[in-house]
Parts: sequence; C-alpha cells; structure tokens
Amino acid sequence: MAKQGPCRDCSETIEVTPEKLEGMLQMLIKSGNIELADEETSNRRLSLCMSCEAYTHGGTCKYCGCLVQIRTKIKGRHCPSPLNPKW
Ligand code: SF4
Repeated sequence: MAKQGPCRDCSETIEVTPEKLEGMLQMLIKSGNIELADEETSNRRLSLCMSCEAYTHGGTCKYCGCLVQIRTKIKGRHCPSPLNPKW
C-alpha cells in the first residue's frame, strides 16, 4: 500500500496562527452577524478554556470544534460542554 501524506485539510487548518485568528475575527465582525462580548468576559472565558480538559490542538474545543479564541469573543455564546459548562 502506498504511503499517504497527512490529511491536507487538517494539516492546513489544525494549527491556526494568531494572524489567521485575527483575520477570521475581523471577517466575522465585518459580516455584521455577530456582536462581541466585552473584553473582561472574553478574557475570563478564554482563561477557563485554556485550563479545560476539552481544550485541544492549541485552541480547539473538542465538543464543538470551535476555535475558542474566537468563540469566547462572541456575545451570546456559551460553553458547549454537555456535562459541565464552564461559561
Ligand atoms: S468545553 Fe467549554 S471551557 Fe472547555 S474548551 Fe470547550 S468551550 Fe472552552
């Protein structure tokens, strides 16, 4: 069997640079479809995510697949943990 390379989709998206995150956030803001949480709220959420057992691959929530650096900034979002929502 021929050796296969890494999954192209994963290899291109699993590690998201701060620049890409900022670009995604700016795109969401420009779309006008989101409202941002205040800075204190988003910082508190992110801190909880970064100490969570579901935080994986440097920023992905294993429950929803979201990039937590973005999800935590959006007003009205919540923690998707089915058993122990943290925010
Ligand atoms: S389960 Fe909640 S606290 Fe944990 S990484 Fe996901 S969003 Fe963050």
